[in-house]
Amino acid sequence: MKTVTIKDKEFDLFLTEEVIEKAIDNVAARLNKDLAGKDPLFICVLNGSFMYASELMKRVSIPCEVSFVKMSSYKGTSSTGKIKEIYGLEEDIKGRTVVIVEDIVDTGYTMSLMLEQLVCDEPEEILVTTLLLKPDALKHDIKLDYVALEIPSDFIVGFGLDYDGYGRNLPDIYKIKNS
Ligand code: 5GP
Ligand code: MG
Repeated sequence: MKTVTIKDKEFDLFLTEEVIEKAIDNVAARLNKDLAGKDPLFICVLNGSFMYASELMKRVSIPCEVSFVKMSSYKGTSSTGKIKEIYGLEEDIKGRTVVIVEDIVDTGYTMSLMLEQLVCDEPEEILVTTLLLKPDALKHDIKLDYVALEIPSDFIVGFGLDYDGYGRNLPDIYKIKNS
């Protein structure tokens, strides 16, 4: 079994690049069919989605725009704790078909906040694609339109996802050992 060590943790190979790319082929084919003529704006969420966004957008052949945002965390009031806000969206999304491109949906908290904030700008519709979904961890009632792969709740790295800043450049996805 192929393993990698990142800082103090060991990870086992979990999803190969081939498996991931096949799943992305499927999502892209569905998007090309469903969004033809809709002039969509893809909003990719940095940092984690950079590799998914790149592979996905190479396969999307309909006319579209591609943009990038971050979800920045800041400390709210002591009662609200950590808040996340969309940062860097320059396009006017009013009346448009918007597709959020995420790396992974775990509890769904981050995505639920993004959706809440984007709705305020009155897009025609908001669709969501995520490379990975941990269905057993999902706690928020959110609509996920295009899920490339469903995985167990273990911590993973690679294909854009990091452990403490490292591992994003791995072309395959690895799962933490002994979990
Ligand atoms: P959520 O808000 O859905 O609970 O978590 C979403 C965020 O948690 C993702 O955008 C990602 O940054 C992080 N995350 C969740 N699970 C994993 C994982 O297994 N590996 C890594 N590297 N990040 C994860
Ligand atoms: Mg993310």
